Amino acid sequence: MEASLANTGRKPLSILFALSLFVSGCAFQQQEVVSTAADTSTVQHSLTAPASVAQLSDENIQRALKNAYTKFKNDQSGKNADYIKALAEVDSTLYGISVVTADGRIFEIGDVKTKFSIQSISKVFTLAGIMQQTSPAIVQEKIGVNATGLAFNSMIAVETIPERTVNPFVNAGAIASTSLIEAADSAQRWDVIKANMDNFAGRELDLNEQVYQSEVNDNLSNQALSKRLESYGRIYSDPLEATTVYTRQCSVNVTSHDLAVMGSVLANHGVNPITGKRIIDADNTPYILAVMATAGLYDNAGGWLYETGTPAKSGVGGGILAIVPGKLSIGVFSPPLDGYGNSVRGQLAAAYIINELNLNPYDASH
Ligand code: GLN
Repeated sequence: MEASLANTGRKPLSILFALSLFVSGCAFQQQEVVSTAADTSTVQHSLTAPASVAQLSDENIQRALKNAYTKFKNDQSGKNADYIKALAEVDSTLYGISVVTADGRIFEIGDVKTKFSIQSISKVFTLAGIMQQTSPAIVQEKIGVNATGLAFNSMIAVETIPERTVNPFVNAGAIASTSLIEAADSAQRWDVIKANMDNFAGRELDLNEQVYQSEVNDNLSNQALSKRLESYGRIYSDPLEATTVYTRQCSVNVTSHDLAVMGSVLANHGVNPITGKRIIDADNTPYILAVMATAGLYDNAGGWLYETGTPAKSGVGGGILAIVPGKLSIGVFSPPLDGYGNSVRGQLAAAYIINELNLNPYDASH
């Protein structure tokens, strides 16, 4: 029987969210929020964008960004990922916040032009790619859409959770997703994945060779996951080939600006509001957002949802992407991570903006 999305069981999550609002008044480097309007003269905007996004004033968004930036600028908690050696060397003081609204307005502050490796946030776009090529039901059947409650690289999850691949955002499910991309060979698989990410970003992204070389020669755990999945019949191309392409997709460079633009496609029903180009079917976006809500922040997904009510995705490069459907997308870059592998300031800043602008979709009072 074909898997039905209506049968999806969701685990009740009750993890307490430990956001510490660290307010510091010292050594604040004055930064101004820069806002840009997309050049809409040649662009056909999505007619489906909800009118309510227009009610978000430029002034309110600018204020929320500036406050989020100032409040957490001097928060030095967390630690760069170091299991990928190149990530340990990234300047941990870097901090940038970008917002792109579903109607194509851009607001940014801080280090928004600094490139960093997208890491696990790439999994969102590969999920979108396989969903376009197959269907939400096939994704649920071949990968899975449930939370693990375990770390993103957990082998225990593969051993104990019946779906094996678990969901598209833990490493096992992400490698399986990469393997599910229709391609004749590894080069074509990479080309399809990269072109898809470029389409989301509205520009040609480049590869962080240093991060790629650092990880591709040191990813034995991911290789082991892929071989284990093969033994369960849950990988859909050569496992090691898929692992290498997966590692490459994680090494693509983005900025917080790129993240916010890429996310705006999901906030805007599949149309990039800056380029006006449809990237994915509108019908697929709720499924992608649902997986982000369920598993985007791994074993703190419940804590994040509890605090913000929004779908989000993190990467160990220090990026975080949060989406308010129909309204806006937030991309933050700050390398130090918490124990779950999620950017500390990324979570603090994005949660602050969402709550400051009253954007929690579960709060019907606004
Ligand atoms: N490339 C990283 C890995 O496979 C991605 C992990 C992450 O960003 N959470 O471990």
